[in-house]
Amino acid sequence: MTDVETEVVIAGAGPTGLTLAYELALAGVETLVLEKLPRRVEQVKGGAIQPRTAELLEMRGLLKPLLRRAMPRDPVGGHFAMLPVPLDCTPWQTRHPYPITIPQWEIEEVLEERAAARGARIRRGAAVDGVENGDGVTVSADGLRVRARHLVACDGGRSTVRKLLGLPFPGRPGTYLAVLADVRLSATSSLVPRRVGHISGLTRQVNGYWAMLVPVGGDRYRLTFGREDETEATRDTPVTREEIAAALRAVYGEETVLGEVDNASRFTDATRQVEHYLY
Ligand SMILES: Cc1cc2nc3c(=O)[nH]c(=O)nc-3n(C[C@H](O)[C@H](O)[C@H](O)COP(=O)(O)OP(=O)(O)OC[C@H]3O[C@@H](n4cnc5c(N)ncnc54)[C@H](O)[C@@H]3O)c2cc1C
Repeated sequence: MTDVETEVVIAGAGPTGLTLAYELALAGVETLVLEKLPRRVEQVKGGAIQPRTAELLEMRGLLKPLLRRAMPRDPVGGHFAMLPVPLDCTPWQTRHPYPITIPQWEIEEVLEERAAARGARIRRGAAVDGVENGDGVTVSADGLRVRARHLVACDGGRSTVRKLLGLPFPGRPGTYLAVLADVRLSATSSLVPRRVGHISGLTRQVNGYWAMLVPVGGDRYRLTFGREDETEATRDTPVTREEIAAALRAVYGEETVLGEVDNASRFTDATRQVEHYLY
């Protein structure tokens, strides 16, 4: 086993882990981020930054590089709980009254560049698989052993660190299962949105499906969809090309033709929270 020492070790290089790494680096704290994936998956996932988040990013000098990558968007408000009425943010007296449309992986790329430039170390292909509490903390990750004063778990909703520590995760299980996919369309009907605008203009509910198509440049779209009837799939059931093509046909008509599927996964509306954040 290789031994590494640091002040803070962070599990997970998603937006949370990378933002923390940048904050700690700004404060001069020695930080190592351990990330399971050998390289970043260019998955759109989160597609927009909300006004208050934009303000915080601006305070840290992070907004400009993100705005350079943002996609054109109609100047229309965001949404609350997917309601079909634009959320008017102008009374908030914010300089950013509209959501900023940018794929999550691009946000992560900017955060990682900035954190690394300030001295944070990011090690990929290192999945945390063991945690020992004692005088500080010892973390193991794919043959690497890290000694640190603090470990911060930023390894997502299904956190390995939380499970290794046996922490309770109360809440309610998901009530529906939906598909999230980055796709390319080789032909589109007039029902396919051409520009990013309010969520209600991107969403359709028809023929037993609901779906949202967000154009992210050229022939690329972020597709989310679900079925109104029961499905046998679970969160981990692989998404098939056939089910994506079937959903597109049902919601956007036969003229809408699926090209490449860049990536696809499932998500639920499960709602849970750990009881404490400090152990
Ligand atoms: C369909 C959908 C749409 C969304 N849209 C938006 C949106 O428009 N705007 C918005 O703000 N948010 C949106 N979100 C929410 C947003 O994606 C999440 O809030 C965000 O991903 C949480 O970031 P995170 O860094 O906490 O966790 P994650 O993004 O889950 O990152 C966790 C990281 O930890 C790594 N990891 C996991 N296990 C280990 C391990 N054992 N060791 C080391 N690393 C590990 C993972 O590989 C990953 O890189 C959306 C989510 C979904 C599913």
